[in-house]
Amino acid sequence: MTPPRKLHIKSYGCQMNVYDAQRMVDTLAPEGFVETASVDDADLVILNTCHIREKASEKVYSELGRLRVAKDEAARHGRQMSIAVAGCVAQAEGDEIIRRAPVVDVVVGPQSYHHLPQLLARAKSHGRALETEFPVDDKFGFLAPPKPDAIRARGISSFVTVQEGCDKFCTFCVVPYTRGAEVSRPVARIVDDVLRLADNGVREITLIGQNVNAYHGEGPDGRIWSLGALLHRLAGIPGIVRLRYSTSHPRDVDETLIEAHRDLTALMPFVHLPVQSGSDRILAAMNRRHSVADYRRVIDRFRDARQDIAFSSDFIVGFPGETEEDFVATLALVTQIGYAGAYSFKYSPRPGTPAADMQETVSAADMDERLVRLQELIDSQQSAFNVATIGNTVNVLFERTARNPGQIVGRTAYLQPAHVMASTDIIGQVLPVTIASLERYSLLGELAPAVDAQSVFSHLTHSSQMITGA
Ligand code: SF4
Repeated sequence: MTPPRKLHIKSYGCQMNVYDAQRMVDTLAPEGFVETASVDDADLVILNTCHIREKASEKVYSELGRLRVAKDEAARHGRQMSIAVAGCVAQAEGDEIIRRAPVVDVVVGPQSYHHLPQLLARAKSHGRALETEFPVDDKFGFLAPPKPDAIRARGISSFVTVQEGCDKFCTFCVVPYTRGAEVSRPVARIVDDVLRLADNGVREITLIGQNVNAYHGEGPDGRIWSLGALLHRLAGIPGIVRLRYSTSHPRDVDETLIEAHRDLTALMPFVHLPVQSGSDRILAAMNRRHSVADYRRVIDRFRDARQDIAFSSDFIVGFPGETEEDFVATLALVTQIGYAGAYSFKYSPRPGTPAADMQETVSAADMDERLVRLQELIDSQQSAFNVATIGNTVNVLFERTARNPGQIVGRTAYLQPAHVMASTDIIGQVLPVTIASLERYSLLGELAPAVDAQSVFSHLTHSSQMITGA
């Protein structure tokens, strides 16, 4: 029997890349590849790149420099190591990678990784292979499904891609160029994926897409289904106890999504809804196509539908032309909304995007100072949200053993890690936990006999008052 070939994937960036990396493993498994944690052992190394962060391509080239050493070392021991670059940097700069980095055997864009086996074969016979077109075929129809043991090894929580690409063209963002136009997968395929995951022990599904609530997939009735309709369908699958979705655009929140939050207990009351800025002037320059008032109205609609809902968001500070007044408007919005957490970044230009050509740049010192002020505010809101949980009983979905012996860790509805002393039998179950204390961002507690829904609700009301000062 031929020994298995070893595959090492290094993935950067978003949840979509984490998911894509798993699907690459699944696609290469029938070719005899098994995953290895060590680069030095690998017969194939894939860098699954991200173009969102600053100097993304330079980081790829310095990683490739390290891989060249590993590849030479393997060759000295009579082993052939192949190197592939996948993901958004591959899509954006494929030709340049082939030109600058002879160590690379295969370059493959995010829409084409289902062709990895053929590309590796082509590289073997022709020396190198590049594929960065947006193919007409639906890659999900071609990907090998994960094997049951692979699903079980990945735990009780799983991502499922339902939509890819984006037509919004925010002026700072590369996604429409690297992931292409919005495409939604048919409902039946998603249902098949979730049934397979549920059959193999998955209890929580996070539906992912660059603009997930723009989902408009073909339903089994031949009509176009919204994300809300899809969530209703998935909530009926036995074994699936929690549903989430990410990342949403405020403009695409429709009534079916609001209704899903009102009607589905499996749909977690925690929504990541990026706003990026609290200034209408900057939102217009970003081409976000919504105002601050629109965003607040969307938040109010969610809160009217489900009182225990909480939000996280993304913010960019120092977008070209951002004044102190614009930035103060962002702080004001954060104060008004009251987030359970948020991600904030300094603006940095992405080559090829309209914002990269904008002249009115903000000084590095101003960006640094604004980021500190924003993060202090967000941290104080997150701490208040977590502290308000102490003394309450909340539902936790238990995921795995913790580092501390005897402890099992799970997550609350709001993705807060929660630890209890218990047996491993509780993994995969949603159980009530009375929270006793908070250590940094982790909650510590004890299993409780039953959830007191009223106390969960009072914690949120309390938290919200602490956050907003209302
Ligand atoms: S909506 Fe999101 S993914 Fe689409 S262009 Fe804007 S920031 Fe990028």
